[in-house]
Amino acid sequence: MNLHEYQGKEILASFGVRIQRGVVAHNAQEAVNAAKRLTADTGTGWHVIKAQVHAGGRGKGGGVKLAKNLSEVEEISGSIIGMQLITPQTSAEGKKVHQVLVAEDVYYPGDSEHEEYYMSVLLNRASGRNMIMYSTEGGMDIEEVAEKTPHLIFTEEIDPSVGLLPFQARKIAFNLRLSGTAFKEMVRFVSSLYKAYVESDASLFEINPVLKTSDDLIMAVDAKVTIDDNALYRRKQYAEMRDLREESPIEVEARSVGLNYVDLDGNVGCMVNGAGLAMATMDLIKMAGGEPANFLDVGGTADAKRVEEAFRIILKDPNVKAILINIFGGIVRCDRVAQGVVDAYKNMGDSIKVPIIVRLQGTNAELAKEIIDNSGLAVHSAVQFQEAADKVKEVLA
Ligand code: GDP
Ligand code: MN
Repeated sequence: MNLHEYQGKEILASFGVRIQRGVVAHNAQEAVNAAKRLTADTGTGWHVIKAQVHAGGRGKGGGVKLAKNLSEVEEISGSIIGMQLITPQTSAEGKKVHQVLVAEDVYYPGDSEHEEYYMSVLLNRASGRNMIMYSTEGGMDIEEVAEKTPHLIFTEEIDPSVGLLPFQARKIAFNLRLSGTAFKEMVRFVSSLYKAYVESDASLFEINPVLKTSDDLIMAVDAKVTIDDNALYRRKQYAEMRDLREESPIEVEARSVGLNYVDLDGNVGCMVNGAGLAMATMDLIKMAGGEPANFLDVGGTADAKRVEEAFRIILKDPNVKAILINIFGGIVRCDRVAQGVVDAYKNMGDSIKVPIIVRLQGTNAELAKEIIDNSGLAVHSAVQFQEAADKVKEVLA
């Protein structure tokens, strides 16, 4: 689950990480009030208005702007809230902005002494350890830094059972070429950032930029945070931060009926039981010349009701030109699934307008094929994997 910048910063602050302070606002008037409050708390006269959407590169898309007085706060907030923000990380239509973060300006006017760094904490799946990635080249596209000057990106691996050791935090501050107060600030920053990552069950904390101000304070100016979905049951306070408006509506609906669904860009809808088989099925579709429209694992109980729910979800995607159902009957019997498909198809009447290929393998597979073939419905059956692929190719041709 991804969070907004302001939510990520709230978590950071709760673990003692210094942040660029801000107040969220839903309209221009709230933004002005927020700016007044910040001025009272921090003494700042200038404010940065930052669109809150789940996408990076907001600065490039015109979603981060400096306001030098209250009337600029009002004007800029008014124009950002409600806009469709297009950034290098959104689709071509962009994302609608529902709220802005009114933040204190931390890049003091005329100040050229500040530095921007990059820092993220994430899981290195290859080594099974946590990792801090960091660079002196912050503020800009880290992908570009990685491509053009990979030697400027450092990594520090952390054994999760031992935790971040003090020498590691010092090494990071040293590699960032800091000394004196800034060095100590960075050691504290890294330690509390790592603690925030571990104790919130996050899979990512990306801070770009980390700012060193001219008076040697180290603070998070941006925050991209992902909390591990599987840990949300024990992180209720973070689960409540979910913003459904930022997520794919089809995925939201699938989750509400307990289906494991991921929206993709292709044209072949997939209904599969088991994540491994779902991945193999997506490969199969690609080899047949199609592109999967989704990943969908219906799980162990592929009964008529579940198959019907899965159908409905898949058909919500207007790009779907064919549906491939690929079920391995282990505990679930194939004839039951076949009957489920036939019943669901009949229940749904004419809402199904695309060809359906069903491949059932395992317990009672032959009987299942008979049920499909005798149903009189426009459903193609297949027993072998390759056969299913050939039929996908056929219907797409
Ligand atoms: P992103 O573009 O979505 O990554 O959003 P960021 O939060 O990283 O902001 C984009 C850029 O806005 C940063 O790299 C900074 O250069 C700039 N920025 C952020 N906060 C301030 C601020 O307080 N003052 C000024 N002048 N610029 C800021
Ligand atoms: Mn950023």
